[in-house]
Amino acid sequence: MSFEETPDTGLRLDEIMSGAWSQAELVDALQEIADGVYGVVGFGVAAISVLRDNDELEIVAVSGNADAREELLGKRRALSTLEADIAMADWWGPLCFVPEERVIDRLEDPGWVPDVTPVDDINAWKPLDFLFSPLRDDVGDPVGVLAVDLPADGLRPDEDRQRLLQRYAEYSAKAVNALLARERLTERLRLAETARSIVRTASAQLNLDRILADCQAAIVEGFGAQGLWIQTFDDLDSAEHGVVFSSGGDAVVLPEGLIGVAHDSARSLWDAQRVVITTRRRPPSSHDPLTEGERHLILEYLDSIGIGSMLFVPLGAGPECLGCLALTRSEDGPEWTQVEADAALDIGHDLGRAVLNARLFEREKKLLQEMRELDSYKSQLIKTVSHEFKNPLTSIVGHLELLESVELDPMEGRSLEVIARNTGRLQRLVADMLVLSSVGDPNRPLEAKPIDLRDVIDDVIEIVGVQAEAKAIKISVDSPNEPVCAAGERDEIERLCVNLISNAVKYSAEDSEVAVHLERRADSVVLSVSDQGLGISDGDQVRLFDEFFRSSNPEATQRPGTGLGLAIVKRIVDRHEGEIAVRSEMGRGSTFEVTLPACD
Ligand code: ADP
Repeated sequence: MSFEETPDTGLRLDEIMSGAWSQAELVDALQEIADGVYGVVGFGVAAISVLRDNDELEIVAVSGNADAREELLGKRRALSTLEADIAMADWWGPLCFVPEERVIDRLEDPGWVPDVTPVDDINAWKPLDFLFSPLRDDVGDPVGVLAVDLPADGLRPDEDRQRLLQRYAEYSAKAVNALLARERLTERLRLAETARSIVRTASAQLNLDRILADCQAAIVEGFGAQGLWIQTFDDLDSAEHGVVFSSGGDAVVLPEGLIGVAHDSARSLWDAQRVVITTRRRPPSSHDPLTEGERHLILEYLDSIGIGSMLFVPLGAGPECLGCLALTRSEDGPEWTQVEADAALDIGHDLGRAVLNARLFEREKKLLQEMRELDSYKSQLIKTVSHEFKNPLTSIVGHLELLESVELDPMEGRSLEVIARNTGRLQRLVADMLVLSSVGDPNRPLEAKPIDLRDVIDDVIEIVGVQAEAKAIKISVDSPNEPVCAAGERDEIERLCVNLISNAVKYSAEDSEVAVHLERRADSVVLSVSDQGLGISDGDQVRLFDEFFRSSNPEATQRPGTGLGLAIVKRIVDRHEGEIAVRSEMGRGSTFEVTLPACD
């Protein structure tokens, strides 16, 4: 039997390797190589192991008898035992051979030992003979082992067979390296995907600090980075450059110059949709936006904090660059791969969107706060002014009453009438302003109690009744027989009803009808007030609830009013978390419908 390399051997091995891309295909390739060692090189058992994370060698492919497969597949041993084996081996080129005599001398546990009787030859293979080839990576570190046993001819291999075995060992090393790279890549991808999904989840948050805090650990772990910092740009045109977060959670103080460089680089990278890797190990790529001086500055800084390489990623949304993310690895950390660079840019998009959302939310919150403050200031102002008016008005009214009992000539009497009428208007205005400031005060919480709206309507009809009777207007009320309760403040609900019903009367012609309808609809109570009056134009309807708004219809403005009635109604509705709607047609009448949350 001859065991020599033929042209077919290389072809066959190339064929095996060229078809193997996925992890499973690479494991199959290793099995085929092991089978080749069995069938072509002529060893009864061939086993290939690969290096695992915890410095253990795991057997992933075994060829030969079922006994050996059963015994060996999946078996692990410490890498250090390989080193011990190498130390006592004879070198046959790249192959290591440990003769039985030495194994017996040195090892307590020789591992799997086939049950064979050596042939009668000076070169006979002994049961404890151990022949293997350490498999190494590009830089010579061990990544696995090809071990063989049970030569078919019972002899220790001659030089031809050794050479043939070496060929298989070379291909085993290739396949093992490819398998390990593939596994690392798959793992990396999985982690990058994990990091992305965490960023997406965190994006649901609207607080920037929380988003960044939640993402950091996941991104660092996902990318196998040593550290990370995230910088967000507050305002792209201002000199402010946002906040920098480190993986440790503490704010990192970057040299001032670097912040500016990061800012400018991030913008140009975002425009080009690229990331950049900065390391002393590689010259800058042609896409690197850094000048030689800037690169030098960064490398010096990285050196000073013990970092070997940095993956720099812009963050943004749409055309806007909103910050940057820098992932770092130590001097002896692995190179950044293209897959990682792509995944990092995706994260730049995800985080960018999150930053934008959070920023918009912050702005909205700030605006709302400012509006609240303005509102509060306005109610305070209205309140103060109204109070200031109230005292002199009370005095004027008092003096007017005194004058009523005094004998006056007709002209003086008319003047007094005018004064009294306008004083009345001023009093109504001041009263409305005081109510408006009270119901519009954001700092005054609602003290809600269940209120039966039927009772409120009864009271209101009594108040408005006089005004309606004077115009021969009939007010009809349509309400259920059982209580129709809303949660609210009675005085305010009453004020709401007075304003709506008295408006309906005020803006209606004599002899018409006002209909009040009350009903319970699911979780709400609905109150509607309809009249057959002037109606409100579409243009006026838009501004109806604004303070001091009075209709553009001259017929309406002839009637006394302050323009505050509906503004008060709207604020009361808002305070009660209700809604108000209006339907109206000029010359035919209007319906105001208020919906309030019901309570039992
Ligand atoms: P006012 O004191 O002027 O009545 P409101 O705030 O109550 O102030 O109403 C604002 C404007 O809306 C009124 O000036 C009036 O033109 C119009 N309006 C309110 N209610 C009605 C209604 N039922 N019919 C017609 N116009 C109305």
